Amino acid sequence: MKKRLRIFQSIHFKIALVFVLLLLLAFQIVGAVFVQRLKSENLKAFKQRVELTPYVDNSLITSLSLANSDKGDQRINSALTGINNQNISDVQVVDAKGNIRGETSANGHAIVGQKNTDSRVKRVLYSGRSFSETTFNRADNKHYYISITPLFSSSGNSNTLVGAVYLRADLESVYDSIDGVTLIFATAAIVATVIGMGLAILISRAITRPIDEMKKQTAKIADGNYSGHVHVYGNDELGELAQAVNNLSVRVEESREQSESERRRLDSVLTHMSDGVLATDRRGNITIINDMAAEFLNISSDYQAKGSSILDVLGIREDYTLRDLLENQDTIVLDTSDQEHGQVLNAYFSLIQRESGFISGLVCVLHDITEQQKIDRDRKQFVSNVSHELRTPLTSMRSYIEALSDGAWQDPEVAPTFLKVTQDETDRMIRMINDLLSLSRMDSGTAKLDLELVNLNELFTYILNRFDMMIKTDQNDAQTEQVKRYSIKREFTKREVWTEIDPDKFIQVIDNIMNNAIKYSPDGGVITCRLVDTHQHVILSIADQGLGIPKKDLNRIFDRFFRVDKARSRAQGGTGLGLAISREVIEMHHGRIWVESVEGKGSTFYISLPYEEYGEEELWNEDQG
Ligand code: ADP
Repeated sequence: MKKRLRIFQSIHFKIALVFVLLLLLAFQIVGAVFVQRLKSENLKAFKQRVELTPYVDNSLITSLSLANSDKGDQRINSALTGINNQNISDVQVVDAKGNIRGETSANGHAIVGQKNTDSRVKRVLYSGRSFSETTFNRADNKHYYISITPLFSSSGNSNTLVGAVYLRADLESVYDSIDGVTLIFATAAIVATVIGMGLAILISRAITRPIDEMKKQTAKIADGNYSGHVHVYGNDELGELAQAVNNLSVRVEESREQSESERRRLDSVLTHMSDGVLATDRRGNITIINDMAAEFLNISSDYQAKGSSILDVLGIREDYTLRDLLENQDTIVLDTSDQEHGQVLNAYFSLIQRESGFISGLVCVLHDITEQQKIDRDRKQFVSNVSHELRTPLTSMRSYIEALSDGAWQDPEVAPTFLKVTQDETDRMIRMINDLLSLSRMDSGTAKLDLELVNLNELFTYILNRFDMMIKTDQNDAQTEQVKRYSIKREFTKREVWTEIDPDKFIQVIDNIMNNAIKYSPDGGVITCRLVDTHQHVILSIADQGLGIPKKDLNRIFDRFFRVDKARSRAQGGTGLGLAISREVIEMHHGRIWVESVEGKGSTFYISLPYEEYGEEELWNEDQG
């Protein structure tokens, strides 16, 4: 049923139908006009054929005008018998009074002399005007032509009505020939219609086939299949349309590819962005969330977030409404720290707005400012530390100098001690400023390493020997001063370890760690120095038996100005910058420095440096050398 309906609705069917209807209409009109015309022509010809000759008419007029009616009737009779026309079936002559004077039909003689009752004859006799009509006789199913002509005798100037001739002719021959023509016409019309229908179907198929192909092609385009091509059948409008569809297909494919590549580019930009990006629809529900945002917000898969409200995803439902975000797009600082990691995010909002001003969504960019905040904090801390570190020696110096200027300079016992203190403080400040300068050089990247290929075993031994020497000198002075005693134990790899380092800076690092080890060791402590090599690294370690470092401070020990016990460190002339500088130097060497410590038992500082093992051949060559 559906299929049928579709056939009736198709252009194909409609064109064929219109064609057929037009043909039929044309035939109908032409046929009607033609048959009508033919009929009237035939009738005209027929009438001429059945008209009585003027001779008969005249003889009838004279016969009717005769005073002797019998003679007149005879003459009329003979005139009527003389009419030799097959078409005429009946002729009746009536005189002016309406009496039948002559009749050609078989039983005609019987009615001669009777009164004619036909109203049409009476009317002609009365009016003197001829009358004619075609009638259909139901009795014998025939058409007849009836003509009643008045007869006038002219004497002088006056015309006198003497009677009328009633003529009845069988029209069947005319109608038969018209019927024959009509039949031929109808047959021709049917044949033409059938042929026309066939042609119409062919033509409409020729028209609808390209349309059909275009319909299929456009449906394919809509489905995203651009591979097809519509055949161009000619240069007519349909051909142009087909060409336009082909062009359209190419254009659509191009623009689809373009938007696809645009989408891919956007996708890859979003994926590789270091910032988190979220986009929402106008109701504030997430439509896009990139990996970074999912990571920042600790969302395991984006399915979880897509479709849920941005307020919930950012966890700001309690403080903000969607209206707040839409109306004032300031930055919001989100603290998403958990127990393990600190994380502070800056959330920037902007509207996705159409040209009409309609707001179709919201974009939120999340920027991790944890590091930046830490840097800010550290910078402020550093400035405050530097001021504090400088103020302490300066205040103490000022009080000593004040005491000296107040007269203490004259006291030979106090004055040298006071001056010594100011000198020590000045030295410490100079040391601190030098340390700060070298740190700043390393920060700005202006500090350069003076690299040399060094035998690390030898260099380490050299440094430790210097500390051994110091013990001896110190112990020589021990009679006068209380000096800490310690011993250094060496556990070195047998293999010679050659690395590229800046010896001066490296010595500075080891000196610092050794000094700390001595500083924070108990009297008589043993400092164990080890040198081990793995395949890729060489590890130096310096272990003491000192106070150790509290666990909570282990991470901060390399921070600038950090000291576990500020007063004690300061009293021992420490600046709190030694380990910070050490870390910078080791990192410049692409190495690593760390500490392990047990409070009360001692600490071990490790330095690991990248190391490339020499091939056996080279070692062998060296052995030979
Ligand atoms: P300082 O000039 O104070 O020694 P450092 O940067 O060298 O500065 O050391 C920082 C802090 O680390 C010290 O103040 C001290 O508290 C701690 N420290 C360093 N080495 C040791 C160690 N071997 N034993 C215990 N604590 C240490």
